Amino acid sequence: MPETARLAYRIQKHAARRLHYDVRLELGGVLKSWAVTRGPSLVAGARRLAVAVEDHGLDYADYEGLIAPGRYGAGVVLLWDRGHWVPEDSDPRSALDSGSLAFTLHGEKLRGRWRLMRMTTRGRARQVSWLLVKSRDEAARGPGAPDILDEQPRSVLTGRTIEEIAAAAV
Ligand code: MN
Repeated sequence: MPETARLAYRIQKHAARRLHYDVRLELGGVLKSWAVTRGPSLVAGARRLAVAVEDHGLDYADYEGLIAPGRYGAGVVLLWDRGHWVPEDSDPRSALDSGSLAFTLHGEKLRGRWRLMRMTTRGRARQVSWLLVKSRDEAARGPGAPDILDEQPRSVLTGRTIEEIAAAAV
């Protein structure tokens, strides 16, 4: 597949009011986004709550730095992983609409097969919750294995930690 046809995949570690990881998948010219408080897990079958958040523009994909207090997303942003993703379904838009998206990540840190599953919401839920789950494959880890979040905390862009980005911005 030519480089231009690849769909961007990013994860931004975001130290806002609460630390979380923003998982972003390019689709239809925007970055579909989910905020994962506990971050992704490489343990096959381990579920991570992923709250759907606003689409972001493709120009935000490689952002890293400090978002000033009072602005949307105020806090420190670290580009934690980057690469591209490949949907398993030929029509990823309808897979997303149906609430089940299976895909392969080709990142610097995360690889292999994953799934995003929308949870059924009762009433007029203000937020749409999904689950991000690693599928069983050679890229998956066992339950006792080291946590990739602890193992590789640094930026893929600059090699910095959240603390180093925060300190550089002051
Ligand atoms: Mn965020």
